[in-house]
Amino acid sequence: MKAEIIAVGTEILLGQIVNTNGPFVSKRLADLGIDVYFEETVGDNEERLKQTISLAAKRSDLVVLLGGLGPTKDDLTKQTVARYLNKPLIEDAAAMQKITRFYKETRRPMTENNRLQALYIAGSHPLKNSTGFAVGIFYQNEEGPDFLLLPGPPGELKPMFTQVVQPLLQKAYFKDHHLYSRVLRFFGIGESLLVTKLADLIDHQSNPTIAPYAKTSEVTLRLTASSRNEHVAKKLLDEVEQKIQSRVGEYLYGYGDQNSLVNVVVNLLEQKKLTISAAESLTAGAFQAMLADVPGVSSVFAGGAVTYSNEAKMKLLKIPAEVLVTEGAVSAQTAKLMASAIKNQLGTQIGISFTGVAGPDELEGNAVGTVWIGLAFKDQPVEARLFHFSNARPYIRERSVLTGLDWLRH
Ligand code: ATP
Ligand code: MG
Repeated sequence: MKAEIIAVGTEILLGQIVNTNGPFVSKRLADLGIDVYFEETVGDNEERLKQTISLAAKRSDLVVLLGGLGPTKDDLTKQTVARYLNKPLIEDAAAMQKITRFYKETRRPMTENNRLQALYIAGSHPLKNSTGFAVGIFYQNEEGPDFLLLPGPPGELKPMFTQVVQPLLQKAYFKDHHLYSRVLRFFGIGESLLVTKLADLIDHQSNPTIAPYAKTSEVTLRLTASSRNEHVAKKLLDEVEQKIQSRVGEYLYGYGDQNSLVNVVVNLLEQKKLTISAAESLTAGAFQAMLADVPGVSSVFAGGAVTYSNEAKMKLLKIPAEVLVTEGAVSAQTAKLMASAIKNQLGTQIGISFTGVAGPDELEGNAVGTVWIGLAFKDQPVEARLFHFSNARPYIRERSVLTGLDWLRH
């Protein structure tokens, strides 16, 4: 479904008013699953409006016109679309009654052009205006694109859209279809690489749609399928997820809007009945703070140490001074000793450690972003892994914490 929005009004072209109706309508069409491919503005000029409509009709399935439904001479939208469709304008009795009653009650003379606002295109659906006089129009067209005409004043357009247009479009285009979504969460792959690996799937998406969204250190993909039947929708989602999994499955760590990496890891530890402690240098407690964000983490998380200085590493974790001098604080050896020390001291099954250079200055000849993570697991040999993160200090620290969590997931 390709939609096109045409804002009508010389005031917009002159910069006298800002087109706020366009974004309002775009967003609501997107919510309905209707894609807007083109949006343009044209002045109150019949010839140019006609040209714009003809072009839109060639390339779009739904043409939405905003403004120009009023009673004055510059309001041409309805007349021009009617002429384009070769349909007469007819009077909406309810709208007409509302107008005549208003003029009667306020004892003002009603002029002939006031009637114009109650006119709609024969064969279309007149849309009730609860805050004004001009009826909106929805014309479903057998031969060409459908037309939707909405009043310019935002105080009229917005309620009309919410009250009348939204349910009408839903019914016209999606009948009893419902939308089913699935959110896939990735870590360890950037948005641009993920999108590149899935380029053909994303380019050819229609049902389900695939929408990527990136945060500082993780990327999510929202898959949305539309169907009358939940099982069919699930199958559509499964099929596209399988294709995605076969390409980037190793980075997929979880599902759902709320289910962040730390939640997944805490769940996993709970399931496997594993306890954890942490010794942190450059992250200075950020790993433990993130764990503690998860309610109920106390069943798996014992605690840990923040050993920022060498002295703290020696005093709290008994790291030999010799190691810190010869190997360095940022080294595999130190990371391993930190992890096993905290694990043994607190009697947990897992000990994890973080030591590295958050910047801005390099340390012991190690570049900013050099990070060692140590992992001691039960009585297996302690491991340490080296990472090189780029970017600024807060990012390096966050990235270290998340990378530690990601390691625990595997
Ligand atoms: P009216 O019956 O008031 O003439 P109309 O449907 O003919 O309504 P326009 O004449 O195009 O609409 O615009 C009326 C007023 O609505 C404009 O002066 C402006 O304040 C507002 N308006 C029109 N188009 C837009 C737009 N795209 N975004 C925001 N405001 C708009
Ligand atoms: Mg007007």
